[in-house]
Amino acid sequence: MSGPIHVPHTPQPPNLATTRLSSYIAPMANLIDNTSRSAASEARAARHPEKQKRADTPVLRKPDWIRVKAPVGKVFSQTQKIVKDGGLVTVCEEAGCPNIGECWEQKHATFMILGDTCTRACSFCNVKTGLPAAVDTDEPRRVAEAVAQMGLNHVVITSVDRDDLDDGGAQHFVDVIEAIRAATPATTIEILTPDFLRKPGAAEAVIDARPDVFNHNLETVPRLYLSIRPGARYYHSLRLLERVKERDPAQFTKSGIMVGLGESKEEVMQVMDDMRSAGIDFLTIGQYLQPTRKHAAVDRFVHPDEFKAYETIARAKGFLMVSATPLTRSSHHAGDDFAKLRAAREQMMARG
Ligand code: SF4
Repeated sequence: MSGPIHVPHTPQPPNLATTRLSSYIAPMANLIDNTSRSAASEARAARHPEKQKRADTPVLRKPDWIRVKAPVGKVFSQTQKIVKDGGLVTVCEEAGCPNIGECWEQKHATFMILGDTCTRACSFCNVKTGLPAAVDTDEPRRVAEAVAQMGLNHVVITSVDRDDLDDGGAQHFVDVIEAIRAATPATTIEILTPDFLRKPGAAEAVIDARPDVFNHNLETVPRLYLSIRPGARYYHSLRLLERVKERDPAQFTKSGIMVGLGESKEEVMQVMDDMRSAGIDFLTIGQYLQPTRKHAAVDRFVHPDEFKAYETIARAKGFLMVSATPLTRSSHHAGDDFAKLRAAREQMMARG
């Protein structure tokens, strides 16, 4: 695959679909709760022009177990400065992640490469939709520098969908992985990729860069794809993860879904079985939170006890690692979870 590919001058119209960033989906509900209707309306119109003709969806009151701490603190400000000075984008901010206060106070940020604008428009995701800018070829260097400055043992790298690029941004992922490896060889690298739909050879290029964890979120059950992830294909996403295992069995694979979108428990079980058939090691399940009134509505808030039940069932089905709580997001506690994942594999191998 050639070097970084730049956005053509006559870019394609956005493919109205989904991005895997969802599991971050967060609470612009904060936006809904805390800002006036007109301010919220202006903000969402700028980020999601394609959704403005939709009727407002009802907003359910969040239960007590969804409350999170406001982002304050000295380390939070230091993290913010490193991100800002490096001219970097984080999914923590772009998706309005509810865990940002906790994560940034521990200097954990998830970098979002390839710009802040996504070529898809999933109905759950708060990342801006539109025509992205040209690929920033200096970004890998700056990401690696920020990882070194933060002293990260484990880093998570995600991106917007770049359907406008011939390789979907695969080479840029490779460049970022290589830059981090060169700057801080001990840092383990987790990537959360797009689906690389209709981008032949893209997934293989990224797999061959040998990230420690290859994550791609299925986001929801197949029945809901048309309304929640219209531009994606459930079996393509599943197959992407299976291809990782076929090409490099040592690479950990990870995937996640949101619940509270109208799925049934039986459908969640079926997704777990599909994931196990594809050899996925690590499952994440978190509560969907509605970014704005123009996004998909929350069907219900799943009780923490139900998350515990999902975790028990998923472990029985053979996942090496499961994180299932209302505030679980793909990158939440990713470093600690990676250590547990590695330990779980070692134990399994020791048992034979
Ligand atoms: S859970 Fe992930 S996206 Fe959310 S603040 Fe933490 S690192 Fe960022």
